[in-house]
Amino acid sequence: MSKGIIQSNQQKETEKKEKIFDAIIIGGGPAGLTAGIYLSRARMNTLLLEKLSPGGQAILTEIIENYPGFPNGISGPELMQNMEKQAVKFGVQIKYGQVIEVKNDEKSKVKIVKTEDQEYRTLSIIIASGAEARKLNIPGEEKFTGRGVSYCGTCDAPFFKDKKIVLVGGGDTAIEEALYLSKFAREITIIHRRDRLRATKILQERIFSNQVINFSWNSIPLRIEGTNKVEGIFLKDTKTKQGKEIKCDGVFIFVGYLPETNFLKNIIQLEDKGYIHTDDNMMSSVEGIYACGDVRNKLLRQVVTACGEGATAAFAAQRYVEDLKGVSYN
Ligand code: NAP
Repeated sequence: MSKGIIQSNQQKETEKKEKIFDAIIIGGGPAGLTAGIYLSRARMNTLLLEKLSPGGQAILTEIIENYPGFPNGISGPELMQNMEKQAVKFGVQIKYGQVIEVKNDEKSKVKIVKTEDQEYRTLSIIIASGAEARKLNIPGEEKFTGRGVSYCGTCDAPFFKDKKIVLVGGGDTAIEEALYLSKFAREITIIHRRDRLRATKILQERIFSNQVINFSWNSIPLRIEGTNKVEGIFLKDTKTKQGKEIKCDGVFIFVGYLPETNFLKNIIQLEDKGYIHTDDNMMSSVEGIYACGDVRNKLLRQVVTACGEGATAAFAAQRYVEDLKGVSYN
């Protein structure tokens, strides 16, 4: 390699190291993409880091009926692809990589975001890393994941055509996924630990009139059984304390989510269960670091609330960065 090429590579490396973004968004779900749209329209030099592919949990939703402006609903993938296109159109740069650490230099105000193979510098950070499916942590769950145990109906439903499924959970996700799975499965038993559902009433009306679905109320799963793949699930009735086995080909688990905030330990204040506490402007316990969407501790977890928070976080970050640079408009 010639001296010139070596020098130009070194120069690129130095430039890469010295480049300081105005904002780095961690996570490309509805909250992160909306923040991206707002920041890039404010001409903030913005990088969005995404672990897999943009879209978040919403991309796994067959149809979203409560996002305003779509009276007939819109498919999750279509809505999320549109948001991604819109963010990219205005100038957000999207890169792939799992964030493993965030650092904050109090003195210089520069923040560092580390992925497995890169390090980026920025003046502000918007955490929109969302949440991952909560596990039941019962025997057989891990062993049979991918061999009958699933956390995504939209992804795995075709494997269960004309099969018998057990589904655990009683929230919006469980009921939406059960309705979708009912187009494939021969029979679905929903196991719920109480005697009534947590899900929105309109979803309850649909599930109770679905012929494929039946319920096992007041039941908690104790173990998932099988040899090489799922063959059944063993439950306990919380009222009678009796055990019961249900033979099935698959177990779908939808018992809520846990925030993806492990990479933030020791940098910002996390609440019980790892959610991020913010002020009304989405700022975390550290100045210049904001959080929005499912990582926040809040009442309502919807695409529409994630988008609203993404917009607020972006506007707050913009003002923070402009103040730092001395170019704010007061
Ligand atoms: P969720 O609302 O927290 O519901 C979790 C369900 O799992 C509850 O029924 C809960 O029972 C049950 N559960 C929790 N831990 C369990 C355990 N260890 N064993 C057995 N059952 C257990 O979670 P989600 O349904 O995933 O929804 C998450 C958020 O997203 C919610 O705010 C929801 O409204 C929102 N969401 C909205 C839509 C929509 O608007 N279309 C769609 C999907 C999700 P209990 O009821 O007894 O606590």
